[in-house]
Amino acid sequence: MSVETAEAPAASARVRMEDIVSLCARRGFVFQSSEIYGGINGFWDYGPLGVELKQNLKSLWWQRVVRARADVVGMDGSIIGHPRTWEASGHVEHFSDPMVDCRACKRRFRADQLDDAGPCPAREGSSEHDFTPARSFNLMLRTFIGASEDAASVAYLRPETCQAIFTDFKRVREVSRQRIPFGIAQIGKAFRNEINPRNFTFRSREFEQAELEFFVHPSERDRWFEHWIEERTRFHRELGFDEGVLRVRPHAPEELAHYARAASDLEFLFPFGWQEIEGIHDRGDWDLRRHSEFSGKDLSVFDDRRGEHFLPVVIETSVGIDRTCLALLCNAYCVEELEGGETRTVLRLPAALAPVQVAVLPLSKKLAEPARRIDSELRRRFHVAWDEAGNIGRRYRRQDEIGTPFCVTFDFDSEGDGRVTIRERDTMEQERVPIEGVASWLAERLEPRP
Ligand code: ATP
Repeated sequence: MSVETAEAPAASARVRMEDIVSLCARRGFVFQSSEIYGGINGFWDYGPLGVELKQNLKSLWWQRVVRARADVVGMDGSIIGHPRTWEASGHVEHFSDPMVDCRACKRRFRADQLDDAGPCPAREGSSEHDFTPARSFNLMLRTFIGASEDAASVAYLRPETCQAIFTDFKRVREVSRQRIPFGIAQIGKAFRNEINPRNFTFRSREFEQAELEFFVHPSERDRWFEHWIEERTRFHRELGFDEGVLRVRPHAPEELAHYARAASDLEFLFPFGWQEIEGIHDRGDWDLRRHSEFSGKDLSVFDDRRGEHFLPVVIETSVGIDRTCLALLCNAYCVEELEGGETRTVLRLPAALAPVQVAVLPLSKKLAEPARRIDSELRRRFHVAWDEAGNIGRRYRRQDEIGTPFCVTFDFDSEGDGRVTIRERDTMEQERVPIEGVASWLAERLEPRP
């Protein structure tokens, strides 16, 4: 594990964003949405490799947070909920950022992020912007339900996934026969009309969140808050984020959201600095209390062991899937100098998350047929890529660049000796393995993917 110093910043901070963006576009991880129309600001599409990376991250989260625990259940709520939801949650009233416009260049900025505004290109004799006073701008995206577009048909695309967990709390608890403390987890899209989407996928207008709302007795809130900070830090360590690139930052009281009693961010060291990738919040009983009031339905629980009716306190963990994918790419990206002065780009992704687990490479197209047999056997258990074009060195580089942990090469000796070469991504070490043992050799080192 590396300890980073001021002289040697973490690799993720040394990486240039343009290299990540260019790799993502070139290899089809992530690129602008609606590219053929010039793109749409704040929206991104994930290509064949990006969707695998994202899927693997979501599966790992679901495994660790939901399936591995007897005290957490999952759900999948709708993106558009009843508009009253957002009045009760406080989003209609409070979910806004301060916005200013420059009268000269007409650009729009977040008033709390003016350090990044730069000089104004439209003013002569001054490089400063000519800002309007700050106005409050609600970040929820609106739409209309049904045929008429009037005030009565306004609805919102959810700005966070968790509200469905609160509105469905009573039913989910009853059907799952859970007792407090227990949690409800969900992964899904959220939408925010960000004033200034930027830093690639870091701040987008459409993104995915993986959220857990863990309901506890008020007397146990501090213990569970600490528990979830530890659990979530452990998860990020599993992603390969060591002390040099991941830190826990407790919020100062004046930073707390209107509903929160305590909060800590898990921050990652991006090329553009330390930034939040996950928030862990003690939301108190705010959400259940407000939904009880607004809906007229009692959302309190009766605890027969305590002989007490109470509104549970919620400890929330909310991680951005897109931000974490970006952190994974920044952390994994590495350009290495090889003997002879050549360089190779490697994505040192954890094997559990790599989009492709193993590549099958016949040394020559003439060897395609026997190599195809290995390919189809491996496809039953792993995510496999097939590549028969170009010289073998170039093919290895192509796999290194997308983070494929192992390459299986079928060469001219393979038919004779019944063995293939397995090459490992990080060390580039090669091993001859009997063909019938390849699947189990890999299974010892890779999780099978359903
Ligand atoms: P920020 O201060 O960066 O706007 P936030 O504190 O509003 O973030 P939360 O409401 O706590 O974020 O959301 C939880 C997680 O959702 C964040 O840690 C982040 O990973 C993700 N997230 C929030 N807004 C965006 C966005 N615009 N684009 C991508 N991911 C986001």
